[in-house]
Amino acid sequence: MKPKIIDNFGREHTYLRISLTDRCNLRCFYCMPEDGIELVDKPNIMTLEEIIGISREFVDLGVDTIRLTGGEPLIRKNFSFLARELSNLGVTLKITTNGIVLDKYLDLFEEIGLKRINISLDTLDKAKSVFITKRDYFGRIMANVCECLKRGFDIKLNVVLINDVNDDEINDFIRLTESEHLDIKFIEFMPFKGNEWDWSKGVSEQRILDTVSEEFGKLTKLEDPAHSTSRNFRVKGYKGSFGIVSTVTNPFCAGCNRIRLTADGKMKNCLFAVSETDLLTPFRKGSSIQPVILNSIKEKKFSRDGMDLKMDADHYEQNRSMTSIGG
Ligand code: SAM
Ligand code: SF4
Repeated sequence: MKPKIIDNFGREHTYLRISLTDRCNLRCFYCMPEDGIELVDKPNIMTLEEIIGISREFVDLGVDTIRLTGGEPLIRKNFSFLARELSNLGVTLKITTNGIVLDKYLDLFEEIGLKRINISLDTLDKAKSVFITKRDYFGRIMANVCECLKRGFDIKLNVVLINDVNDDEINDFIRLTESEHLDIKFIEFMPFKGNEWDWSKGVSEQRILDTVSEEFGKLTKLEDPAHSTSRNFRVKGYKGSFGIVSTVTNPFCAGCNRIRLTADGKMKNCLFAVSETDLLTPFRKGSSIQPVILNSIKEKKFSRDGMDLKMDADHYEQNRSMTSIGG
């Protein structure tokens, strides 16, 4: 029988999130440090063939779901070729994108059966979008969200809530779920290298629930899918739903089944993992990377790479920026 990617806590890892690039066409302040990031030299970035080859090894070890992320995954050159090849691996393929160039890929996604698209949209206000992302693409992103909904894609909107920036829009997002089959994912602001994290800027799961309940009354608790990273709800009678990714105040690590692969071919056992395992070098040498993957998962800590609820700056400042991990 084939070995599986099981950690010391008995968790089987079947979900691989691949960062296709550390580059991005936005500069969201909570993700990208003010001075940008040191980009990895091109020769050290996985080629498309290497991404496919390494993915194949993970699939052989039981991975059944792959999410493409970044940086911005849709700006990776020859993205269509890569997506087509990965869809042939027999996995459920998903993507997280800022949505700017989504319209160019919707036909492809229909063709290869990629249905689940997470789009990052932190505000419904154009001026605020420019403030958050430091670029002016709001109109294009909104048009693409509408087009995806029209075509029947399974859409989640990722909303990172920041105090005094977009915390006043929680219920505006909820209102979108009245008539649309749309899922809003409110995400607690998380700490990464250089993002000047301070929990006073964050909005907690409890505050989000209180804000929604105050206006919409008693919420229906939905059954959370296995390995879900969010707790999910619906306003009574609404078509869509919402969930909260409460990584800071109420982590959900017990059922974690995720592994990350950075654009330069490093395996990360956890979003907050400081240590990484190089898969690209042995892959380039032609050695089998399966034993490396199976060993690496044994180093996985139970929760948030061992950080306690205070989130230790000495720890997360040693991690990468979110834009180069692949969220
Ligand atoms: N560029 C794509 C996008 O924005 O969807 C994919 C990469 S982005 C790093 C993936 C997700 O991470 C986005 O939904 C983004 O909002 C989220 N994210 C980035 N920095 C974060 C932070 N400090 N705390 C919580 N979520 C964060
Ligand atoms: Fe924004 Fe995503 Fe780019 Fe980060 S990677 S700056 S969240 S668009």
